[in-house]
Parts: sequence; structure tokens; C-alpha cells
Amino acid sequence: MLIRGRLLIDPTRSPELGWLRIESARIAEIGTGDPPRDQPAQTLGGRDCIISPAFTDAHIHLPQIDSAGCDGLPLLPWLESVIFPAEIWWGRGHALSMARTAARRMLREGTFNFAGYLTSHAEINREAVAYLRDKTPLRFIVGRVAMDRNAPDELTAEDRARASSRPVPSPAMASLGSNNNHRISANPRFAVSCTDELLAEIGWWHKEHPEAIIQTHLAESQQECALVSELFPRDPHYTAVYDRANLLTPTTLLAHCVHLSDDEWRLIAQRRSIAVHCPAANIFLTSGLFDYHAALRHDIRLALGSDVAAGADIAMPRVARGYIETAKVRRMTVDPDSPIPTPADAWNRITRENADLLGWPDTGRIETGAAADLLVLRVPETWLDEHIVGRLIYNWSSRLIESRIIAGQAVDPAKL
Ligand SMILES: [Zn+2]
Repeated sequence: MLIRGRLLIDPTRSPELGWLRIESARIAEIGTGDPPRDQPAQTLGGRDCIISPAFTDAHIHLPQIDSAGCDGLPLLPWLESVIFPAEIWWGRGHALSMARTAARRMLREGTFNFAGYLTSHAEINREAVAYLRDKTPLRFIVGRVAMDRNAPDELTAEDRARASSRPVPSPAMASLGSNNNHRISANPRFAVSCTDELLAEIGWWHKEHPEAIIQTHLAESQQECALVSELFPRDPHYTAVYDRANLLTPTTLLAHCVHLSDDEWRLIAQRRSIAVHCPAANIFLTSGLFDYHAALRHDIRLALGSDVAAGADIAMPRVARGYIETAKVRRMTVDPDSPIPTPADAWNRITRENADLLGWPDTGRIETGAAADLLVLRVPETWLDEHIVGRLIYNWSSRLIESRIIAGQAVDPAKL
């Protein structure tokens, strides 16, 4: 296969006209200008097309795929009245159809890789993971949610019983994610839903499986932080609760990180854990404005996530826009020195950097030898200038995507 267009190899520079030769699912050759005469039979793209790496979402809840837009509540009441019922619904036999909807929507918006959450039901989640692995081309890290308190019985029973399921990936579930493109993580929901014992059990498990990924939420809303200090009165702060349980590791994804002290930022930096900034969700639930300046000051490893359904939008370019806008609002309000990410920085994060942080350094980039995971974007001719990346972010629509190429194959999300 040959793909022609303006190659978004480095989003800080105007993309130049060129071509990619795809062979055995990889980018075999990159050329500038017009393609060679002996072209392969299948050619995609054209002179008005932008060729971009596909997107990676570092935080999404598949069971919440139809819950976006239920507005008016802050985090904790929203979980209770909108999200827990949706997760119960997933567990009552709807997991496969919801997983399919989520996969279709991600692919439609150009997201080919994600790290996400399922629910706390072991058995049905095994089926959902098998579906994602066998019937979709997505790369993923997913985990069964571990939770044993402060939620309906139907969601906490399995972890309270510690019988039919373990808080950590069971061998049956772990075997579903046996290669690097499909991995099973441990997902303690957050400190509010987990007893000390449950967190400790996951921490001990991680000591035996240091390569495994842990996903959790940290300091999303102030009400949540206050409740955590009531539930864990002996810990000096929220981040220490996870650290005491051995849950702050270089393979830990900490979603939100909105309300953190300097001590907490330092601890996260020291442990090399990854903060996942979910800008749309933070605004939707009025949780707060992520402190990008602090993350930079502390040299935090930073990923971006949609956090569907607290984030109403699954499209990563819109998440990138929220990332820029949150920093702008902070500069206009609380921090006149707040740096503002450029569109190129934001594009890099939703492509290459998110992929690197999730352990997939062979995708999210246009490089010889990288996986041919690409988007062919058809844009108006007038966009083809030095502002192209900002134009893509601020005018994003899935209609811009002409073709989705995953591992060298054109994929149609409607056919999943
Ligand atoms: Zn979340």
C-alpha cells in the first residue's frame, strides 16, 4: 500500500508533501515529493490530505459510553445517580453491545489505542475483553474495576466476597491480555471505593508483577479529597494512601491529579507514576482546573485522557483543545505565569507521547519501522499553512478522516 499526502511527522513544522510505503503492517519507507513511478496497486490519500499518526486515549470508561452529558452534578453524586446504574446495566448482560459501541466510536474519531476501565464484574468482563481482542483492531490496556465499599452491592459484592474474583486480574482474565498490544491492568476505582485491605492486596500483587499496569483516580474533586482524609485519617494526604499500598509505580496511571499539594507532586515525580490529565471531565463535573504549570515544574510524566463519560467527548483532538484551554483559563485567573501548551505539543501528546507512556513506542508516529497506524485527513486547501495543527484541533470533526489505517489495513468502524 502507498499513502500520499502532507506528512505530519513533526507537528511543530508545516507538514511537507510526501508518501509512505506500507509493507507487512509497518511503514517500510518514507519519501518526499511525488511517489516513485512503480507504485503499489493500492494508493490512498492525495495532495490535499494530511497524514497523521492515530490517537491514543489514556483514560476511558467503556461502560460509561452512553452516559455522556448527564449534567448538573459534581463527582460523587454523579457517580451514584448516573454512573453506578450504567455499570450495573453493563453487568446485567449489556457489556458486549456497549463495548462494541465504544470501539466503533473510538475508531470513528481516530483513536486506535486506549487505557480504560470496565466494571467490577469478573465474568462478563472476561467476555468483553475477549470481544475487544478478537473482533476489533484496537490496542488496549483494560482492567476490571476493584471496589468494595461506598457503592451499590451489585458493584462491590465480588470484591467483598473475594471469592469468585480477585481484585487483581485473575489468571483467566490475564491470559486474555497476553501480548503487549492487549494487556490487563489492575484498576482500584479510587480510595473512596476501596478499603485499605483491597488496596494493599493489589499493591502486593504488583510487587510480584512489576510490569503490570495499575489504573486509578486521584484528587479529582475537593469533596472527594475531603472524604478520603476522613476515610484514611492517618495518611498525611491522598497520594500517600496509594503510596502506602505500593500503588505508586512507574506503570501507574493516575487520572485527574487536580487537587495536589507540592508534597504530593513530588511523591508522584519520585515514583515516576503517570498523571493522566482529563480536561473535559474536570470541567464537566466542575472538579477543578488541572495545574499544568505544577506538572511541568515537577517534571511529571503526563498523558491525556477523554475520561468518557465525565468527559463528554471521545475525540482526542477535542481533549487536546481542553488541555490548551484549561491552561489558558488558569493563566487568566489563578496563575498569570501558567505556560500554555502549543497545538503541536497537544498533538504530540495525543499521538506519540500517550503511546510511549502506555508502553507502545512502535505506534503514534510516522517513522520507518513504526506500525502503520495512520489517519488520512482530507482538509480544505486553505488550511495548509503553519497553523494546520491548531486548525485540526479547533475544527475537529470525524468527517475530516477519509481513511483509518490500522497495521496497514483500512478499517471501517461501521463494520465492527
Ligand atoms: Zn475516570
